[in-house]
Amino acid sequence: MCDSDRLNSVFLDYGASKVDNFWDADVFILNTCSVRMQSEQKAFSYLGRIEEFKRQNSNMKIVVMGCMAERLGYSIKKRFKSVDLVIGTKDIDSSVSKIIDLCYLKKPFKKMNFNVNFRSEIVKHITIMKGCNNYCSYCVVPFVRGIEKSFNSSTIIKKCSLVVKNGVREIIFFGQNVNSYKYGNVDFSLLLRNVASIKDLERIRFMTNHPKDLSDNLINVISESSKICSHIHLPMQSASNKILQAMDRKYTYEYYLNLIEKLRFAVPNISITTDIIVGFPGETDKDFEYTLNAVKNIRFSGLYVFKYSPRPNTKAFKMIDNVSKTEKKKRHTIILKESNKISAEIVLKMLGNKYQVLIEKIDGGFMEAKTKSGHKIFLKINKKYYGKILNVVIKEVKGNSLFGDVID
Ligand code: SF4
Repeated sequence: MCDSDRLNSVFLDYGASKVDNFWDADVFILNTCSVRMQSEQKAFSYLGRIEEFKRQNSNMKIVVMGCMAERLGYSIKKRFKSVDLVIGTKDIDSSVSKIIDLCYLKKPFKKMNFNVNFRSEIVKHITIMKGCNNYCSYCVVPFVRGIEKSFNSSTIIKKCSLVVKNGVREIIFFGQNVNSYKYGNVDFSLLLRNVASIKDLERIRFMTNHPKDLSDNLINVISESSKICSHIHLPMQSASNKILQAMDRKYTYEYYLNLIEKLRFAVPNISITTDIIVGFPGETDKDFEYTLNAVKNIRFSGLYVFKYSPRPNTKAFKMIDNVSKTEKKKRHTIILKESNKISAEIVLKMLGNKYQVLIEKIDGGFMEAKTKSGHKIFLKINKKYYGKILNVVIKEVKGNSLFGDVID
């Protein structure tokens, strides 16, 4: 998402515009993910459909970017002859000039900082690191994104100051494991403290976190700074220690639970979300039951649940994928059902309460606002509120969606 956001910014600055349908496109850019087999299959099916369009609009250029492009390289071009360019994650910084060359665009290419969008936005993703050294046994990221590299902290702070000057009110730091950010003497806690001191910046969020690297120091910073949002995404993956070990996650469920307790003690209203994988090789009914019980006990505000799929190069690829598709699907449904029930209960408790929100978007007949806990609230449109921090009261809850009124 972050790469798409960055690419989008640069192309809009260059004078390109987004179009609503394939017919009007000069260039079609497919940004891909390799983390799950399903994501790659979706990308292939998309490419098949795009090829159809290209047959009728031979001037359109097709570019494939991202992790799948890194992993499969030019074999994508072999399979889909109409693909013009394949750009892996390691070449992303040169991607804009390559795409512009491909399209023979005449406008001189401005030298741009690829990480910064100069147009006024309210929420801005800023990548602070790339790659990962953790080699969880199921994950392809270290193979397609490379080893961990933290970006220069002074440059990050300068970027943050610049985007805030241009109207951004919330910054979301992004990296595969922001908790292990380290540039010289600056660790993630210190980076957060420094960025929190930027005048006119209202909010900071970050993702994603690895439980083994979430320090007490970081928990203190979250609890002390009013600008750091009370939401953390902390992937649990499983609550069975046997499975956590096979996943090479480097923590136990007890350790994870202790972190949750520390976070809730330091920031009482913190909203915690997570990722879970079901059907990892060797996951028995009992292992799954541990995970289900953890979901019930911890009561995450929300979660993403994935059915395990073997990814090439990973350690788990050599393990016997012995949980059947039907069983994976069943476990996936059970976790999702439980999580939806809990999320709905959490959201229902918000009815009638007041929250401070940031008005982030005007879309589809509503204004979208977000609480510090990350809950989205829909409000009646009033353009003068765009980008403002306001107090709202929750008037209605429909499923997991919240509707409110401004009370300022
Ligand atoms: S920490 Fe995250 S990105 Fe890194 S290997 Fe593990 S799952 Fe993949």
